[in-house]
Amino acid sequence: MELSKRKFKDDFKRMLTELYSMDVAQSAVTEQYAALGNLVRSYCSKKWNKTNQHYLDKKKKQAYYFSMEFLLGRMLKSNLLNLDILDTVRTGLKELGIDLSVLEQVEPDPGLGNGGLGRLAACFIDSIATCEIPGHGNGIRFKYGLFKQKFVNGYQVELPENWLQNGNVWETRRLNMAVTVSFYGHVWMEKTKSGYLIPHYEHDQRVLAVPYDTPIIGFKNETVNTLRLWSAEMPPQDESSDYWSYIQQRDRIETISEVLYPDDSNYDGRLLRLKQEYFFVSAGVQSIVRHYRKMNLDMTHLAEKVAMHINDTHPALCVPELMRLLLDDEKMDWEHAWNVTVNVMSYTNHTIMSEALEKWPIEMISTLLPRIYQIIQEIDRRYVLKMSTLFEKEIVERTRIIEGGHVKMAHLAIIGSHSINGVAKLHTAILKEKVLHDFFIIFPSRFNNKTNGITQRRWLMLANEPLSNMICDKIGNDWEATPTELKMLKAFRNDETTLLKLGAIKRENKARFADYVFKTMGIEINPDAIFDVQIKRLHAYKRQLLNLLNIIRLYLNLKDDPTADIYPRVFIFGAKAAPSYTYAKEIIKLINSVATLINNDQEIQGKIKIVFVENYGVSLAERIIPAADVSEQISLASKEASGTSNMKLMLNGAVTLATLDGANVEIRERVGSENIIIFGLTEKEVYQYYHDGSYHAVSYYENNPILKRVLDTLTDGTIQGAEAEGWDIFDSLVKYGDEYFVLRDFEAYVEAQKKIDHLYRDQIKWQRMALINIAGAGVFSSDYTVRQYANDIWDV
Ligand SMILES: *Cc1c(COP(=O)(O)O)cnc(C)c1O
Repeated sequence: MELSKRKFKDDFKRMLTELYSMDVAQSAVTEQYAALGNLVRSYCSKKWNKTNQHYLDKKKKQAYYFSMEFLLGRMLKSNLLNLDILDTVRTGLKELGIDLSVLEQVEPDPGLGNGGLGRLAACFIDSIATCEIPGHGNGIRFKYGLFKQKFVNGYQVELPENWLQNGNVWETRRLNMAVTVSFYGHVWMEKTKSGYLIPHYEHDQRVLAVPYDTPIIGFKNETVNTLRLWSAEMPPQDESSDYWSYIQQRDRIETISEVLYPDDSNYDGRLLRLKQEYFFVSAGVQSIVRHYRKMNLDMTHLAEKVAMHINDTHPALCVPELMRLLLDDEKMDWEHAWNVTVNVMSYTNHTIMSEALEKWPIEMISTLLPRIYQIIQEIDRRYVLKMSTLFEKEIVERTRIIEGGHVKMAHLAIIGSHSINGVAKLHTAILKEKVLHDFFIIFPSRFNNKTNGITQRRWLMLANEPLSNMICDKIGNDWEATPTELKMLKAFRNDETTLLKLGAIKRENKARFADYVFKTMGIEINPDAIFDVQIKRLHAYKRQLLNLLNIIRLYLNLKDDPTADIYPRVFIFGAKAAPSYTYAKEIIKLINSVATLINNDQEIQGKIKIVFVENYGVSLAERIIPAADVSEQISLASKEASGTSNMKLMLNGAVTLATLDGANVEIRERVGSENIIIFGLTEKEVYQYYHDGSYHAVSYYENNPILKRVLDTLTDGTIQGAEAEGWDIFDSLVKYGDEYFVLRDFEAYVEAQKKIDHLYRDQIKWQRMALINIAGAGVFSSDYTVRQYANDIWDV
């Protein structure tokens, strides 16, 4: 937008006066932040309104991305960038004596997601607006985001994240658009003279779903889409209700949107979770259908104007909920309603981990959602009836929705959608060949791949301005709108000046992060060391343990010979564990205990250090990633569906150290095997082991003396303070079979790490690898990913 510095300064001062009756000198940073936030919102409000009006006037088909999680990160700087007023505002504020970077820090980081899945949803809505696609997010306005992590004595402690405490300038409450969501009670069907069945609800509990809308601003364009997050409230009360029962009922209702479940890639079958899922699905689907009605079009044509996307199985109830509205409210017959529903819905699978697959007990779902359960039963009955004529009985039984006393949410989503996608080539192949093979036989044309992506705006232009500026100096700024243009950087692969400049920028970023670590943690780290980064949720399959075992090996080497030729290294971890995931929490404690041991051992002269940052989240990722030299992507092959931190890190010039898992496979395709360090079992070898049952972890312990010595430190008192954890972890590896083949991949990992140590010493060579990684990262922009969703799946 057009904005002169002078007008901005006037507007800003006026806003401060309006809100707080203060001038700049009197105001504190919190007030300055609020004034700026309100101003930015007012700047985009016209565009927001115009975009909505445009969609309505032109009767545009719109896509709705249903996701339990949107891990947004802070919005201030991102909104300034996308409105194209970042520089104006920064210099304007500076002239008023205000530092924009200080105001940015005032904003709470909305942690409305666990990890990759929620962050993907956030990157997607940013890209959807940037690509001028009519598409919106639909989710829950959790009062408390993902817990705040603290380390006490090395143990993870969880504290509430009250992110709304000081309000949220970006949201608008729209009470006039509230809808009612109904739980429990009984349903009976009345047959009318014309033959329709009308459901009657008795004694159901009603919840008012109130939408809070956040503008999602496209990058330097006229599009402003909407993220609609629903909040659960008490419906308007009838006069007769008694005061205390009112309060009790209100608390029960508000609990629904109170807190995000902290389980990543793990299924928690609690009733409240099911309530949350139906709550935002029902509210979203109702409001979409209501909007469609405004256009006065026939309901049988819904799929021409609306696409609904089911992000993982959490919103799978979209399928029966849309059926309910079409059957009960619109009086459509089953066949037509089913056709419309399947054409509207599409589904993304995010995991092959069986512990993450949602299945609800019949008892629970039929009690909480009686009408929805009736519809699911009918979907299941008709599915079995139809498919039994076409396929073997076994395959139909294995793929039906209701089975073994449970409702399988993935099956519901697959049967009710016209498109099912995995999130990386390898992942989609595994779905087709293994995990969802039965469904692939039945619905081969529904399966497709959409490799995940990230927004280069947040993860490069905002997080790493020095690098972003240097890239513009070298190749101009076409890459901002067309990220594959980053490939132009390859022309500089043999230009020493460029490579040294790249190294200098990385060095600056590392020094800045080192300052932050010293200020916040009191740990001194050397910016000339290799910064080796593993940042992601703590999960056994991601194998933070493999990383740790190699660190212990290095430490033992240095203890044997303090002059050993080991290039200085800082191992940086960031990871939250689900509060109920005991094993993951033990690993956190063990890493922290090893950190205490190593960081305080004078004998090794600070050659290796461990920094385990507390409370890893989007804002910390934005600090760490620009400072990373090495990107650890070391999950057991086949287990990581895609990964996205791998993409963020390569975009910032880190070299990937990886197994051939998830999108790492495609990263290697892009940069060539000389510019990525690959090690370890392949997916095929892993499945072969499963097939033979021939993996014996204990033999690796017994036959590899280095590994044995490393593992023995877990139990022999070397690592103080984590004795119990050391034993549990030792046993999990040596005694209980090492589920994720950590010991099997240890030797290959050590070799790969030695290669890194060697490569880094030749800075020209290393920076060339970094450059080629940046140059190859463009295809992983979520701008491309969402365009593929829009073209191939949503048809918007
Ligand atoms: C990108 C991101 C993730 C996902 O990391 P993976 O390594 O792909 O699992 C998780 N958390 C945050 C805060 C992120 O920004």
